Amino acid sequence: MDVREEDAITAECDGVTYYFCSIGCKDKFLTEQTCKLPRTSYDLIIIGGGPAGLTAAVYASTLKMDAFIITRDLGGQAVHSTKIENYLGFDFITGPELVEKFQYQLLHSQYIDHLMSDVEKIESLEDGFQVTTAELKTYTAKTVIVATGMTRRRLDIDGEERFQRKGLFYGNIQDLSFVQGEDVAVVGGGNSALQIVENLNVLARKIYLISDTTLVADPAVIDRVSQIGNVSRYEGYKVVELAGETTLSRITIREMAKAQTIPLSVKGLFIAIGLRPNSSLVAPLVAVNEQGEIMVGPDCSTSREGLFAAGDVTDAFGKRIIIASGEGAKAAMAARQFILAKRKIKKAGS
Ligand SMILES: Cc1cc2nc3c(=O)[nH]c(=O)nc-3n(C[C@H](O)[C@H](O)[C@H](O)COP(=O)(O)OP(=O)(O)OC[C@H]3O[C@@H](n4cnc5c(N)ncnc54)[C@H](O)[C@@H]3O)c2cc1C
Repeated sequence: MDVREEDAITAECDGVTYYFCSIGCKDKFLTEQTCKLPRTSYDLIIIGGGPAGLTAAVYASTLKMDAFIITRDLGGQAVHSTKIENYLGFDFITGPELVEKFQYQLLHSQYIDHLMSDVEKIESLEDGFQVTTAELKTYTAKTVIVATGMTRRRLDIDGEERFQRKGLFYGNIQDLSFVQGEDVAVVGGGNSALQIVENLNVLARKIYLISDTTLVADPAVIDRVSQIGNVSRYEGYKVVELAGETTLSRITIREMAKAQTIPLSVKGLFIAIGLRPNSSLVAPLVAVNEQGEIMVGPDCSTSREGLFAAGDVTDAFGKRIIIASGEGAKAAMAARQFILAKRKIKKAGS
């Protein structure tokens, strides 16, 4: 996990310095892993550290599984949520706060081996799977849980690359001061887009909300945004052009299936038009649906024996933190059952 070098507690192991965020974490590491790292073989490898992967990891730990989690970051999309109002146990919590609680639980109470890295390949072996990271390190496991979530969709129009972070942003950003008193536009009709509108409300002069369909966010969120006076809604419109010198200063929108366009002067454009599942890693191994989501059974099993998937990367109904977490828990329990069944068969055969 990410630990700042200056704040870290260190331990030497096989000539390598390891950094820990707490004494408990270091002690646990030294008791359980003393100088055995790097291990390369586990019963279970979990890929992805969003709500699904982290919950699978906590469950794997409580189920005393020999598990390892590899993830590019901690928290996944949940980190970008500024206002979570639908996670049980909290009336209101921000994404970063909730993820911090997940991390704390994983590091301090239910520790499992972990690696911050990108998985680039998963291959099927005779008795399990081989996982290759960006550093070309390989790890094997009897079973794998894929919890790689989703990535933001882009507009796919000219100038999108050029204006990135020069007025054009994907999702929410921390520092919105540059739009103080300015006109801005938000593209999208779901919860993410409307959360951005709510955040911009106190700062921006005027907010254009552009969506190619009618708004699809939760009714409570739509109601709140409808109360905001400085929002102009363009439902059934899309952005067709971006313009500006060094930074974005104008966009052009067009009503769907109509020729007439409308120019809008804006200082910022915030895009939240949905996400696509990160399933390309396993697409050659498992069945995916038309949207690219991994098709799973009620126990998170996929079409490939021993490979489980959980959360937003799957075709499970509902893309929400609580659902992804529940699916992660199910996947860990199912993976354990799979391993126990394999052991039983092996024992019976020997
Ligand atoms: C702006 C925003 C606001 C939201 N607000 C809410 C809300 O208020 N309430 C709510 O319930 N839901 C909300 N959601 C949805 C919620 O965040 C997701 O449903 C949830 O995070 C899905 O969890 P996940 O673990 O399946 O996937 P993700 O959160 O997408 O996590 C995937 C993880 O996999 C990792 N990963 C991906 N590919 C690789 C790879 N090749 N190698 C290693 N690691 C990899 C990623 O780094 C990440 O850690 C919001 C989403 C967004 C974007």
